[in-house]
Amino acid sequence: MIDFDAPYTLSIDGQAASAEAQLAVINPATGAVFARCPAAGSAELDRAVQAARRAFGAWRELGFAERAAYIGRLAQAITAEVEPLAALLTREQGKPLQQSREEIARAATLSVGMTALQITPQVLHDDAQRFIELRYVALGVVGIITPWNAPINLAIGPLTSALYTGNCVVLKPSPFTPLCTLRLGELMRAIFPPGVVNVLAGGDELGALMTAHPHIDKISFTGSVATGKKVMASAAGTLKRLTLELGGNDAAIVLDDVDPVAVAKKLFFAATVNSGQVCMAIKRIYAHESVYEALCTALTAEAQSARLGNGLEASSSLGPIQNQRQYQRVREFIADLAQGPGTVLTGREQPEGPGYFVAPVVVAEPGEHSRIVCEEQFGPVIPVMKFSDEQDAVRRANDTRFGLSGSVWSKDVARATALAAQLEVGTAWVNQHRLTMADVPFGGAKESGLGRTYSLLGLQGYMEPRVVSVLKG
Ligand code: NAD
Repeated sequence: MIDFDAPYTLSIDGQAASAEAQLAVINPATGAVFARCPAAGSAELDRAVQAARRAFGAWRELGFAERAAYIGRLAQAITAEVEPLAALLTREQGKPLQQSREEIARAATLSVGMTALQITPQVLHDDAQRFIELRYVALGVVGIITPWNAPINLAIGPLTSALYTGNCVVLKPSPFTPLCTLRLGELMRAIFPPGVVNVLAGGDELGALMTAHPHIDKISFTGSVATGKKVMASAAGTLKRLTLELGGNDAAIVLDDVDPVAVAKKLFFAATVNSGQVCMAIKRIYAHESVYEALCTALTAEAQSARLGNGLEASSSLGPIQNQRQYQRVREFIADLAQGPGTVLTGREQPEGPGYFVAPVVVAEPGEHSRIVCEEQFGPVIPVMKFSDEQDAVRRANDTRFGLSGSVWSKDVARATALAAQLEVGTAWVNQHRLTMADVPFGGAKESGLGRTYSLLGLQGYMEPRVVSVLKG
């Protein structure tokens, strides 16, 4: 059980720890500081890495089943604390309470699902002369760096992958949303042997120290493309293994045979859940000319019926943008629309605060080279473009350096599947968007990432392949 009234602490070597510096945490629904927590520096990082390294020997010797049991206990503990954790998540992150509950439930389900995956040695040759086997061994200490949009889910996925495969962990949340992760650290202190999981809140500079640290063997980073490139450059110094889950600019292609009202509901949710602050949110819609007007009208109606408000209030369907920097960025995207050729169908009037609230915007034909089409807005602003030729829609969807995911929508599943398979992405969905599962790899093509999360493919990213090759007789 967590004491939600206790001061926040770091977790190092199974113990609560403090630091000289502090982080002030803002509730994005009010714009005011509501909590403070310790901010770790290089001394705390060194202690955490040393503790993780000490714990590694015994932890990797446990079998997969034993480590799965530990992770099962973590999933149970998270589930038991879902209400206070969800309230804290909404306070620091902003999303509506129900979405916080869902994030926590998903984290528990996905972690248990991943530990059902079997990693077994593969016999490559077994003949009269040779026995050659491919094994997978743990790497050592994994540094996990997470962003502010889904701090629990995006911590638990890499954490489970690292721990189940026999690694020990130093976990660092975003300085904008450190609190739930610190509380998870407290939960984990009561479950895991000392040193197996260490949790350090800290600023961007702590992330940079992790990526350069000589005794961290792998970095799992979830965040923006720009920071991902810095992580990769810094990790090159010690040739760390990397999993990079970066940004996206997901296109949804809507074919001529859909029911525009029914599809608009699903598209709108996939574009604006968590106020659009989701790596795999729909960020561009290409609609066939025969359904274009009807789809724009239905999306506009969805946007106008969204209930913007503090996520702690049950009536809110859309919370604030998580932080002021991102709020200003989204407001710039909206201001830019006025300079371009697009027609803003709804969302021209924006609330002035307090809090970082943005009313959803639907914009028709903003221009192929506009910022809203080319960049990742990470906010509830939906550009809708018209096409007449399906291959042209695929070409435009692929005309980007991003490659996280995308979707095609049609009553003709075979036609939609054939088009979806042409999308240059890590995941191409048909008649759905934003589905992740424990046994299905998720990750980015192109500049949206490196490696995969979930599935055997994801787990293997936390292990080194080792060939044992024996000459018989
Ligand atoms: P960010 O890149 O600014 O920060 C992410 C984390 O990196 C934070 O913990 C931050 O402190 C740390 N960091 C910052 N500078 C660093 C450095 N030089 N070295 C090491 N660590 C550093 O990202 P953000 O703004 O917090 O998150 C939003 C971005 O995350 C969006 O682009 C979104 O698409 C992406 N994202 C991707 C996925 C995915 O699975 N592909 C999931 C969620 C979010």
